[in-house]
Amino acid sequence: MLFVLATCNAESNLDIHSDSSEMSDVMQDSMASEPMDNVRGNSTNRGGHAMLTFDDGPHPQTTPLLLKQLKSAGVEKAIFFLVGDRITKYPDLVKTIDSAGYAIGYHSMNHRNQVGMTAKEINEDIQRFKLVLNNVLKKRYQLEYARPPFGGMSTQTAKIFLKLEKEGKLHTKNIISPQFVQKIVANKIRKVYMKNRLKIFLWNIDFNDWEQRIDLKHAKNKFNSSKEQYWLFHEMPMYKNKVFDNHITEDMPKLLKIICSISIC
Ligand SMILES: [Zn+2]
Repeated sequence: MLFVLATCNAESNLDIHSDSSEMSDVMQDSMASEPMDNVRGNSTNRGGHAMLTFDDGPHPQTTPLLLKQLKSAGVEKAIFFLVGDRITKYPDLVKTIDSAGYAIGYHSMNHRNQVGMTAKEINEDIQRFKLVLNNVLKKRYQLEYARPPFGGMSTQTAKIFLKLEKEGKLHTKNIISPQFVQKIVANKIRKVYMKNRLKIFLWNIDFNDWEQRIDLKHAKNKFNSSKEQYWLFHEMPMYKNKVFDNHITEDMPKLLKIICSISIC
């Protein structure tokens, strides 16, 4: 599990994610549950609903490919949690996501961890994001969904993070045990999001695709038809080991087939 509080929008930054299997277990218990009514597809007899979410884009190497794959798999609904600086950098990709009918969600301006930010700073970040998005889309976009970078943390965890940051320990893998993560999304963050009428949207299925190939063999086991399924994926091909590129180009089309065969996409 990697934790970095600094901004991390650059492609060369390799440590932006705190996402981990341990984290997703916690997310499962604490996820916001309200958004599905507005975004899920039509009911069929295939069991539970799956909502696919893609973080950290847009990116020229992944966004067009993903849109093509989603369309060809017949996935009607998905959310792209974009980073504001990337919206400015790749405006055409944002337009393509919107015109393809997929939702755009707030994932901050520059992927800074909001745990250490004041409510005022978070609010300003949201306003900037809305502004750049509206400017690119040339309309007032109905921004509904938000995912704080790194999933957001409890105030208690925030204190631990800040202490560790001061001690220079945040770059070390596994330094923070998942037991510390008691309550997801700090009250501070949640309040600011609510004030902006944003629904916090976390995840309960995670393949750690920011550091490894998607485990297709066990994909079906992750699915529980009795629950709403929120699948987390990442867009940017930005990691050292290069396997990340393949998780979109090679794994994703196969995974989409599996997901759509066992759930409502
Ligand atoms: Zn992210």
